[in-house]
Amino acid sequence: MSTTMPAAFVGHGSPMNALERNRWTESWRALGEALPRPRAVLVISAHWYINATAVTAMPRPRTIHDFFGFPQDLFAVDYPAAGAPELAEEVAEIVKPTWVGADVDSWGLDHGTWSVLAHVFPGADVPVVQLSIDATKPLEYHLDLGARLAPLRERGVLVLGSGNVVHNLAGMDARRPESGFDWAQRFDEAARAVLTGEPEEVLRLREAGDWAAAVPTPDHLVPVLYLAGLGAAAGHGADVLVDGYAYGSLSMTSYTLDLDGTPATTGADHAAPLPDGVPPESTNI
Ligand code: ZN
Repeated sequence: MSTTMPAAFVGHGSPMNALERNRWTESWRALGEALPRPRAVLVISAHWYINATAVTAMPRPRTIHDFFGFPQDLFAVDYPAAGAPELAEEVAEIVKPTWVGADVDSWGLDHGTWSVLAHVFPGADVPVVQLSIDATKPLEYHLDLGARLAPLRERGVLVLGSGNVVHNLAGMDARRPESGFDWAQRFDEAARAVLTGEPEEVLRLREAGDWAAAVPTPDHLVPVLYLAGLGAAAGHGADVLVDGYAYGSLSMTSYTLDLDGTPATTGADHAAPLPDGVPPESTNI
């Protein structure tokens, strides 16, 4: 008997969440505990944003520390999950005629992936493949590609987007670590309505007045389009796993698709801090 694997999108926030325990990271742990055990994870991370669609195809992906200005403890993080070259081949096959390149030596697991998986699968015992975001493609491409990944859910694969629905680094305000600006809340609530109701209509968010402020660049939003595509393919909306804001201009809202019973979450109601002396424009989170 086959079981449809749930899918998810996580609002990852600061890379420091890898080392923290807070309401968000606890929800990611609860997600990992509530899931059937996946055969592998396919992660669409905001931080592998290149000019092609590719999958990591190496058997031992390295842990990439793709940021600077953060404490040494964060650079010391290693997430030693295995790769899954056979899943990389399956992804390439399943989305034909879209071409997917096999990356054997350039990328690995970036912090959009490991800062979340360090909580979802703390034992690093589930193989991981990353799917890049092709920055040259329109948003419709990503919504469609997400829908076309749906058969993987019948093959024991967890598809996981990692980004932030509202992500405006230039607008971050260190004085409000736990709250969102009015425009950020409006946009996040509009996204919630469409993602839980009619995920196939997610691109209507471009018509929202707050689009330009919430999505100054598409990289952190695109991973949620993959979950929306999977929701469209399934014929129903996603559920909110956890919500909230950080530094005014980031939303931390995470979603699940077809997870039975949303796990209750506990923990401190604040996201991981930014290090002192790191101005927003020099961070890459
Ligand atoms: Zn990020």
